Amino acid sequence: MFMMGICSSPRKNKYKRMKQAILKEPGLVEIREVPLPREIRSNEILLKIHRVGVCGSDIHMYYGKHPFANTYPMVQGHEYGGEVVAVGADVKLLKPGMKATARPHLVCGNCAACKKGQYNVCQNLKVEGCAGPEGAAQEYFIIPEDRAVAIPDNMSYDQAAMIEPTAVAAHATRRVGDLCDKNVVVMGAGTIGNLVAQFAIARGAKNVLITDLVDFKLAKAKECGITHTANLKKESFTAAVKRVFGEEGFQVAFEAVGVQSALTELIAGVENGGTVVIIGVYVQNPVVNMGFLGEHELQVLGSMMYRHEDYLEAIEWVNAGKIKLSPLITQYYPLTDYHDAYKFIEAQADQAIKVMISVI
Ligand SMILES: [Zn+2]
Ligand SMILES: [Zn+2]
Repeated sequence: MFMMGICSSPRKNKYKRMKQAILKEPGLVEIREVPLPREIRSNEILLKIHRVGVCGSDIHMYYGKHPFANTYPMVQGHEYGGEVVAVGADVKLLKPGMKATARPHLVCGNCAACKKGQYNVCQNLKVEGCAGPEGAAQEYFIIPEDRAVAIPDNMSYDQAAMIEPTAVAAHATRRVGDLCDKNVVVMGAGTIGNLVAQFAIARGAKNVLITDLVDFKLAKAKECGITHTANLKKESFTAAVKRVFGEEGFQVAFEAVGVQSALTELIAGVENGGTVVIIGVYVQNPVVNMGFLGEHELQVLGSMMYRHEDYLEAIEWVNAGKIKLSPLITQYYPLTDYHDAYKFIEAQADQAIKVMISVI
């Protein structure tokens, strides 16, 4: 048990407590006061949390409809940025005062997937704030060094909190290999779809079309430099594909909505021999025309979260200005109004992309 940087430690006052947001049951978020975290171990870091991003999967859990994450009560928050306030004796990566975040997955290290380095699909995967131990929706949070990443000084806590969804996009676009000279469709212009489209452009895709049913989200896509957009309430998918790609069609698609109709359109529309990557979370299990898939030699790829290199790449590319995050942050709520943030998303999903919780 080591505690360096003790002068900045919140534990110096042992009677002090901290605020924590807890999803007690579907539909009910409460703020409560709890003891400060236990003392950190030699490989651990204590973060003072500044920002927590609200994720679509948090909202699925709030509705009680997440297909895998259904443990209540749960302290959510797997997208966060914080300030290092104390580090264990063996920690080299971070020092007090630095900004940091961490991957939220807990993996076993022993299963076949882990042994081949594919630990993002660990057989015993647990995700902090989802189906695992508690997340970062609180004032202080302990992270281990092996899952932590340093955030450069010139980046903001907002950006730090958005590295998690950015890493999802880094990973999903890495799955398909070389995107150069390929036309790409991304269905869904929420946070993940937007970031996937930005990554596809950054990785050299020829033309990228992003679709949604909400103009607000498509306008945000344009702000982020994704020039080709289509509102499928106003234009058919086939017409949009023709308008943007002409006779070339598209070779790669990312399904970032998680609904049957999006998947059906992409499988029917992608070029023969093309690839469809599945990122959306399906509340209802979709039907796929496997005969069509076989006949056209399509590839359907899963994409699950990220690995450490995706976090590092996300930080590098955000810091280099290749991936824009600020247009995506649409609202801020203080920690004490966590439930209001969820209610806002429930009532006005059309006006929300990334809702950020300001802990400080
Ligand atoms: Zn998330
Ligand atoms: Zn494993």
